Amino acid sequence: MKVFSKDRLLEELSQCPKVDGIDPLDVAERLAKMAEIGVTPEGGFTRYPYTREEQQVKEVFRGWMESIGLEVHEDTVGNLFGRFEGEDPSLPVVMTGSHLDTVPNGGAFDGALGCLSSLMAIEAMIKQGKKPKRTIELAVFVDEEGARFKNGIFGSRVMMGEVTPEDLEKFADANGVSLVDAMREQGYQPEQVALSKRRAEDIFAFLELHIEQGKILENEEKQIGIVNGIAGPSWRTFTFLGSTDHAGNTPMHMRKDTVVAASEFILGVEKLPRQFSETAVATVGKVNVFPNGTNVIAGKTEVVVDARDIVAESRDQMLEAITALAQEIAEKRELELKVEVGISIPPVIVPDCIQNAIAKAAETNGLGVRTLPSGAGHDAMILGKYVPSGMVFVPSLNGKSHSPEEWTSLPDCMNGMLVMKEVLFELASQ
Ligand SMILES: [Zn+2]
Repeated sequence: MKVFSKDRLLEELSQCPKVDGIDPLDVAERLAKMAEIGVTPEGGFTRYPYTREEQQVKEVFRGWMESIGLEVHEDTVGNLFGRFEGEDPSLPVVMTGSHLDTVPNGGAFDGALGCLSSLMAIEAMIKQGKKPKRTIELAVFVDEEGARFKNGIFGSRVMMGEVTPEDLEKFADANGVSLVDAMREQGYQPEQVALSKRRAEDIFAFLELHIEQGKILENEEKQIGIVNGIAGPSWRTFTFLGSTDHAGNTPMHMRKDTVVAASEFILGVEKLPRQFSETAVATVGKVNVFPNGTNVIAGKTEVVVDARDIVAESRDQMLEAITALAQEIAEKRELELKVEVGISIPPVIVPDCIQNAIAKAAETNGLGVRTLPSGAGHDAMILGKYVPSGMVFVPSLNGKSHSPEEWTSLPDCMNGMLVMKEVLFELASQ
């Protein structure tokens, strides 16, 4: 298994595009510097929020922001900001950034490459003596992954005012350490969460670069992904209730077997998304069988469906069709059905003007583009509810992510940074 190393990045140094103000050696150096923190025996990275590892990586990043002259501050929950002041500081800012925390044993690029791309883009403008009209503000959001407290996209939700002090009380990690205690231990003020709220009208637009975490760009040999929308997940649990009986003594025609019903349902769920839209997806990733014994016909089976689309209407229609299918199967097999509605996060559409700006920057530099939805949630999904927000994707080798095998080549990193630099300047000039 190949894992991250600086030498591996530098193998493709000669294929890197020339980008004014961005030296690929600096990019490799900085990625490698962040990849010294939270290293796991498998060659991955674990940087949970409100830990020493996360503080270390933020300190490193803060040092880079200060070294290029950004005005740095941290809010009451640990979101880190660096301001590159524009010609008219009274105008709403263009914000850009991502996160530095990881999943357990995650990769070197998820989040880190986004933060670094925003930094390199701003640094390039400074080196070239370009000062945009609007201030550009780099944001490093705390706890995007939710790996420690099961409370993801946390920093951006705090910034948009979605989190109250009472909400914070609900969360604790696997060792029983509460979120508020963990925050206090690192010197933050959970009771002052409201002070970290920013007004949507003070943010003109938000732009985040992220690794694709899928295989589309690689398969189609495109360098830049233009995200047209971020699919909000919606979860529904379907419980089929039948009869728990002996596998040997119950004739086939007398059974109320919920595993068979669930199987029929799962195969049906797989076929439904394409009837609703090209971007809709539905997944059964979790099935619980009761009592789950080899010689027992299961009297109860729970099937959890994750449904996503970038358009709320088609996603909701698909969920209704999935529910109707479960009801039809339960009725036909004379089973009872319980339906539980879980989380439902609204999808975000990326405004055309941002998609067009990304396309223009990529195409004028000879890069191949592909428009695609983001199936995964990101900080841009939260920002996008309130301010025009866009995302630039760069290819992930073999689509691998959340694993030590996560990889994006140095030329692909450079292409992404080139696009970020131009689009940020363009947005900040409006
Ligand atoms: Zn991420």
